[in-house]
Amino acid sequence: MTRFITRFAPSPTGRLHLGHAFSALTAFEAARAAGGTCLLRIEDIDQTRCRPEYEAGIYEDLAWLGLAWPAPVRRQSDHMDEYARALARLARQGLVYRCFKTRREIAEESARAPHHPGEGADALVYTGPAEPMSEAEEAERLARGEAFAWRLSLKACREALGARYDALEFVEAGEGPDGEHGVITARPDTLGDVILARKDAGTSYHLACVHDDALQGVTHVIRGQDLFFATHLHRLLQALMDWPVPVWRHHRLLTGADGKRFAKRDRSQTLQAMRQAGAAPDDVRRRAGL
Ligand code: GLU
Repeated sequence: MTRFITRFAPSPTGRLHLGHAFSALTAFEAARAAGGTCLLRIEDIDQTRCRPEYEAGIYEDLAWLGLAWPAPVRRQSDHMDEYARALARLARQGLVYRCFKTRREIAEESARAPHHPGEGADALVYTGPAEPMSEAEEAERLARGEAFAWRLSLKACREALGARYDALEFVEAGEGPDGEHGVITARPDTLGDVILARKDAGTSYHLACVHDDALQGVTHVIRGQDLFFATHLHRLLQALMDWPVPVWRHHRLLTGADGKRFAKRDRSQTLQAMRQAGAAPDDVRRRAGL
């Protein structure tokens, strides 16, 4: 049987809700059906928003749903040095640059992405500076201790990959938000020069996630359609880092009675609240449409 490794990779920034349950059950069920494995990974690089009690809640809720995962669970905050090394590799190739701009400056200079449902108000497409910053200015800002983020330079990526840049493809075995399916040409330009290391975190969701998928041998990335657009960038990172390329299976997002997708703020929809109100795991499956 071909190897099948997928993962459920929540961020412990709140209790899991019905949308998470749907995502977890989808990934675990796919692994079961394929005779493979579903890993659990804790994506907690944002130390200002993540809390240990939410991580504990993830284990509690998933176990209550009847799910089991291999130990040890990878917790991203324990591996920040590995993401720094990945970033350093990109830096040595001249593929990333320091960006000192504030959020407001970026917003003023950027176009808004037509639709990146997962990135909310932050879906800004920054196409990069007209001219690279001079070494003197950069040195001066560093000396002043100004904070900076590392951004991926699409211009440099294009130069590094040559004709391969426009030929990058990925396989969507599920469905993107506009019905995208099958072999898809990666268009990282739709995301612009993305931040790979945040000013406050030293890495980013994109870098840590793609790094770990490669490290953990993930063959199938199963996740919500809100992350479909990120896949264009993830495919590029895999090409730049010579990381293996998985198959993606994006699933629809669960919506509540109001037609809106579940969010952390919907406290009543947390698995904890449902359990306390007397729900059984099968009720969750039913409410998730499974
Ligand atoms: N940690 C991400 C989230 O909570 C999911 C990452 C992924 O599945 O690629 O939405």
